[in-house]
Amino acid sequence: MLKRSIYLTDEIKAFQEQTVAFVENEVKPNAEKWELEGMVPREVLRQMGNIGFFGLQYPEEYGGVDAGAVATAAFAEALGTSTFSGFAITVLVHTDMASPHLFNQGTDSQKERFARKIIAGELITGVAITEPDAGSDVAGLRTTAVSDGEGWRLNGSKMFITNGVHGDLFMVAARTNPELSGSHGISMFMVEAGTPGFTVGRKLDKMGWRCSDTAELIFQDCWVPDENLLGQKDKGFYAVMDNFQNERLVIGAMAVGEAQTALDLTYAHTQQRTAFGAPLFEKQAIRQRLAMLQARVDAARQLVYHTAWLIDQGEKPVREVSEIKALCGELVNDVMYDCLQFHGGMGFIQETTIERMYRDARVQAIGGGATEVMLEEVAKRSYLP
Ligand SMILES: Cc1cc2nc3c(=O)[nH]c(=O)nc-3n(C[C@H](O)[C@H](O)[C@H](O)COP(=O)(O)OP(=O)(O)OC[C@H]3O[C@@H](n4cnc5c(N)ncnc54)[C@H](O)[C@@H]3O)c2cc1C
Repeated sequence: MLKRSIYLTDEIKAFQEQTVAFVENEVKPNAEKWELEGMVPREVLRQMGNIGFFGLQYPEEYGGVDAGAVATAAFAEALGTSTFSGFAITVLVHTDMASPHLFNQGTDSQKERFARKIIAGELITGVAITEPDAGSDVAGLRTTAVSDGEGWRLNGSKMFITNGVHGDLFMVAARTNPELSGSHGISMFMVEAGTPGFTVGRKLDKMGWRCSDTAELIFQDCWVPDENLLGQKDKGFYAVMDNFQNERLVIGAMAVGEAQTALDLTYAHTQQRTAFGAPLFEKQAIRQRLAMLQARVDAARQLVYHTAWLIDQGEKPVREVSEIKALCGELVNDVMYDCLQFHGGMGFIQETTIERMYRDARVQAIGGGATEVMLEEVAKRSYLP
C-alpha cells in the first residue's frame, strides 16, 4: 500500500499508481518464470520504455520528462512493491545507476548517439566499477585504459555487474594515468556489448535478485574510440561519487516499497492465521513488533522523500543520502526477518513470497555502498566543528 507524503504532487502520485498497476499486471503474474530464467525479458523492458518509465529525470529533447528526484524516488518505491527485487534492480540500474553517467557527464554528441535508445528501452545499460579486488574502496580499482592517440585500450576485469550478461552499453571505470594513484587518474568509458576484447567472464549465481542478471566482465585489449571517453579524463572518480547519490537514493526508496509490502503481507497473514484460539495479530508480542517496524518504515520513507526534495532544490545532501542507504539497507532486512518469522514454517518454504523477499533484501545492506561505509560518510558529516 502506497502512503502519503507532502512531497508527492498529484502528477507524481498518478505516475506512481501507474507504475504499481504495471507491476501488478505485467510483473507479478510472470516474474516467477523470470526468476528461473535469470533475467527480465527484453520485451518487458521495451514495453516500459514505450510507456515512458525510463526517462523520468532526463531532458524532453531525448524523450524524457525531466521530472526530478522526488518522481524518481516514487518510481523506485513503486517498483519495490513488486515483491521481485531482481526485477526492480534490473530497471533501476538502467535508469538510475548506469545511464546517469551518460546524461550527467556525456557531451551532446554522445547523448545524441545513445540517449533516445536508452529512454526507449531499446538499449539497456550497466555500470562497471567494482572489481574482484576493489568494491567498497573504489579508488583501489586496477583496470587500465591506455591511449594510442585515437582511442583507448582497456585491460582488466569487473565483478558483480548487474545487466552484465544481457546489457548493451556499459559505463566502465578505468585507470588512465599511471602517474596518479587512488582516487586520481580514473576515467569513465562507454563500452558496447560486442566490442572486440570485451567478454562476459561468467554469469554469477545469486542467493536473491535471481531475475536480475549479474556477471563478471573481462576486458582484454578492448579498444574503444576517443569519443567513448565519458566526462573529464582522470576525473572519473568524482563522477562515480556524484552518480552514487542518485543510486543510493533509489536503492533506499526501493527498500521502503519492499518493506511496506512485506508488512502488508504480514498484516494479512497474521489476521487470518490463528493459534491458541485467536488470530496471530491479537498477540501483543506480534502486533507491537509490526507496529514498531511500521513506524520505522514510515520515518524512513519521509527521509527518502525529503532528501529527494532537497536534491530537486539543487542541493547535494550527501549526509542524508548516506543515511538513507545505511538506514534502509538495514531496515528492509529487519522487516523481512520479522515478517518471515510471523509467517511461521511457511515463511521458510520457497513457494511463499516472503521467502523470496527475505533473500532479495540481504544484498541491500551491501551493494551500492555497504552499511559500514555509508555510516562513515554520515559520521564524517555529523561532526560539529
Ligand atoms: C548482486 C550484486 C549486484 C551488484 N551490481 C553492481 C553493478 O552493477 N556495478 C558495480 O560496479 N558493482 C556492483 N555490485 C558491487 C557492490 O557495489 C559491491 O559488492 C559493494 O560495493 C561492496 O564491495 P565488495 O563486495 O568488494 O565488499 P568489500 O569492499 O570487500 O567489503 C566487504 C565488507 O566489509 C565491510 N567494510 C568495507 N569497507 C569498510 C569500512 N571502511 N569500514 C567498515 N567496514 C567496511 C562491509 O561490511 C562490506 O560489506 C553488485 C554487487 C552485488 C552483490
